[in-house]
Amino acid sequence: MIAETIVEKLPIAIESGVNIPYNSSDFDKYIMTTYGRFPLALERGLGCRVWDTSGREYLDFVAGIATCTLGHAHPGMVEAVTRQIQTLHHVSNLYYIPQQGDLGKWLVEHSCADRVFFCNSGAEANEGAIKLARKYAHTVLDLEKPVILTAKASFHGRTLATVTATGQPKYQKYFDPLVPGFSYVPYNDIEALKNAIAEIDEGNQRVAAIMLEALQGEGGVCPGNKEYFQELREICDDTGILLILDEVQVGMGRTGKYWGYENLGIEPDIFTSAKGLAGGIPIGALMCKKFCDVFGPGEHASTFGGNPFACAVGLTVAQTLEKENILQNVQERGEQLRMKLTAIADRYPDLFTEVRGWGLMNGMELKADIELTSIDVVKAAMEQGLLLVPAGPKVLRFVPPLIVSAEEIEKAVHLLENAIASLTS
Ligand SMILES: *Cc1c(COP(=O)(O)O)cnc(C)c1O
Repeated sequence: MIAETIVEKLPIAIESGVNIPYNSSDFDKYIMTTYGRFPLALERGLGCRVWDTSGREYLDFVAGIATCTLGHAHPGMVEAVTRQIQTLHHVSNLYYIPQQGDLGKWLVEHSCADRVFFCNSGAEANEGAIKLARKYAHTVLDLEKPVILTAKASFHGRTLATVTATGQPKYQKYFDPLVPGFSYVPYNDIEALKNAIAEIDEGNQRVAAIMLEALQGEGGVCPGNKEYFQELREICDDTGILLILDEVQVGMGRTGKYWGYENLGIEPDIFTSAKGLAGGIPIGALMCKKFCDVFGPGEHASTFGGNPFACAVGLTVAQTLEKENILQNVQERGEQLRMKLTAIADRYPDLFTEVRGWGLMNGMELKADIELTSIDVVKAAMEQGLLLVPAGPKVLRFVPPLIVSAEEIEKAVHLLENAIASLTS
């Protein structure tokens, strides 16, 4: 019901101008080789559908990796982008930016945060959180050697500090020396966490902050355990250790609640958001419930952060989520998707182990002892006209726009079944 009203309001798809497969040889000549790319160039999109340069249609369950909250060519976003670029798109943070204040107010009124700092990406927001934690450690806890604990199989970004925070050696290889002051614990394991806190407590070295994802995204779509996070919250309250949640992927409605932590029954001291926050326009946010005044003027900054353009679009996305009751759609479509995927997993017990997730952040895990990888299934699904993205070598990730309709879920599941049949026949 909810999603249909949005789809009705969408403009008519702009016709494809190319209609021939993309010739990638120039691209490969001029662009660095940082990504393993699929042989696909998308040209236009509408709602949850996208078309490649040869005019072929796909159902988009990637959404720019959990980013295009309102899908493609959403009329509200088109209006906000157009209005703000015609009025004023960028000014320095040395002046007051009303759009930034408005988005900040919305975020504070719809979360546990008291204040917000805006930047441009998830990694940059996490960098801000790491800097804040360190200043807090030096000035409030009076620590000389603060340590930040993060989880194994986590993902926090690609800058030097956030790749250090990321507890996966494959992202860190070749980039040492890494940033000092980080240590890693297994996710959802309270005893291991207590032991690490005790072991690190030596002389002037102590744990100052714990940074975790409410649900591990890149690490394989692993939801946080409620009891674990509640016990962790108590430990932080007792010791003054800051609890930082990286909500870059799960924040802003993806789990069926505005924030991932609402699924865990706790509130963080600090949390970050980025991907879906402005529906695909670059933005990041560092949000504080406690110690909002740790940074003084000049101690942290970002040229593009919180400019009128990104914030106007971010506010439109936020108000649309609220006005159109999209969180309810996320909950219902998520239930529907998990039910259907579980039925497929049950039909292919030799291929799949389990389906898990919250809202429209879901993963389907392949068995460890078979040759088939998530990339194989993603490629087969693409052949059928469904875009999916892996979360590690054995997990398929489903992160469609939050406006996805019941029919689109049905269609995606049907295309996935065809893809699996093509692999097993
Ligand atoms: C994507 C992601 C990041 C990095 O965000 P960028 O905008 O690519 O810097 C950090 N943390 C999590 C949990 C993410 O999913």
